[in-house]
Amino acid sequence: MSDQKIPYKIYLDETEMPLSWYNVRADMKNKPAPLLNPGTHRPMTAGELAPVFCDELIAQELDDDTAYFPIPEEIRNFYRMYRPSPLVRAYCLEEKLQTPAKIYYKFEGSNTSGSHKLNSAIAQAYYAKKQGLKGVTTETGAGQWGTALSMACAYLGLDCKVFMVKVSYEQKPFRREVMRTYGASVTPSPSTETEVGRRILQEHPGTTGSLGCAISEAVEAAESREGYRYVLGSVLNQVLLHQSIIGLETKAALDKYGVKPDIIIGCAGGGSNLGGLISPFMGEQLRGEASYRFIAVEPASCPSFTRGKFAYDFCDTGRVCPLAKMYTLGSNFIPAANHAGGLRYHGMSPVLSQLYHDGLMEAVSVRQTEVFEAAEQFARVEGILPAPESAHAIKVAIDEALRCKESGEEKTIVFGLTGTGYFDMTAYEKFHDGKMTDYIPTDEEIRKTVDQLPRV
Ligand SMILES: *Cc1c(COP(=O)(O)O)cnc(C)c1O
Repeated sequence: MSDQKIPYKIYLDETEMPLSWYNVRADMKNKPAPLLNPGTHRPMTAGELAPVFCDELIAQELDDDTAYFPIPEEIRNFYRMYRPSPLVRAYCLEEKLQTPAKIYYKFEGSNTSGSHKLNSAIAQAYYAKKQGLKGVTTETGAGQWGTALSMACAYLGLDCKVFMVKVSYEQKPFRREVMRTYGASVTPSPSTETEVGRRILQEHPGTTGSLGCAISEAVEAAESREGYRYVLGSVLNQVLLHQSIIGLETKAALDKYGVKPDIIIGCAGGGSNLGGLISPFMGEQLRGEASYRFIAVEPASCPSFTRGKFAYDFCDTGRVCPLAKMYTLGSNFIPAANHAGGLRYHGMSPVLSQLYHDGLMEAVSVRQTEVFEAAEQFARVEGILPAPESAHAIKVAIDEALRCKESGEEKTIVFGLTGTGYFDMTAYEKFHDGKMTDYIPTDEEIRKTVDQLPRV
């Protein structure tokens, strides 16, 4: 347990932006399980992680005890371009639903990259720069993470190499061009640039790629280039730490107006925005100072929390990364085509997995078509065109608000609106044309990939 019991209030600067990130692990009695070396099954040491990750990020990753990490001034200067992000009372949605509930959303889509991912991208790029590195490599599926990282790298003058899943590279040319505008080099994956890429192309000619394959290529590209490291946009403890800025700002704003939330909701892909949003509130709950309902929302097509297993698994399909203990559908699980690209990951943050396992958090899964109904309803009254990922949280916020309408309870609901959906208009088009489907995996399908989990 940490001895840094300093109230977060003194961690705000004059613009009401936090001066430190908050590490919820410091207040967890049951810490998340450590990352394991895939060969020896022993906890990964800083030395073993060093060829792949930046040194200071490794220190953050492995630190379960330090409650507050000061945010370096250079990062705070960057944050000031788009933070604090708006915390909005959804009066129009409340009116439309005729609910006694009060609904607030924290909107992370007001920066050019369009999502919360920029909060961690700038931090990771900063530590790479500080270490004197030339550049970073990463993978991107839908493109939000690659976009955020390119922006951060452009700002710091760092080289950025993105492996983009080939199908997205071809289907989302606009995302690709945004990345190139910020100076990133974007390679469709699998590519002939890496050994693993060449092998996959030989074994599966004509493949359109997968996130797992792109991760393997990005890791290889970092390891084989002098002065490069690999960075990841979700799942890891360090990413949750950086994203705690979402929750700290939310709490500061609510406290200022004397509002105490009852229910806090977020969509969960790898868990970074939800983990960041709930962190300071969960900290209070863990210390016995307050209690809240926390709800993770995931797609029914990729239900890690609600139907996965809490076990050690590979973080990537290529099986080059360390093992993490998490709720997982198995690293071989390939979710059916779903338009919320950011929620198609087979696993979940080890921090959130532990909290969920300990009964401190709830999780629900929702179907794609009901998510788009909620997205459209929200856009029409609140004006913001939400990302499909974010709309998962909207859907459950609306459900909870309607429950309040039935019971007459005046609950306060806060949800994370992670981003905008301008690059997802083909998904909206499918929905409008009635061509969107709801694929839900069978128990047998899930059992098949869960049965292939590594034995640890
Ligand atoms: C990536 C992404 C998500 C999901 O990632 P988490 O790590 O679970 O937060 C959600 N919303 C948007 C807009 C995203 O880009």
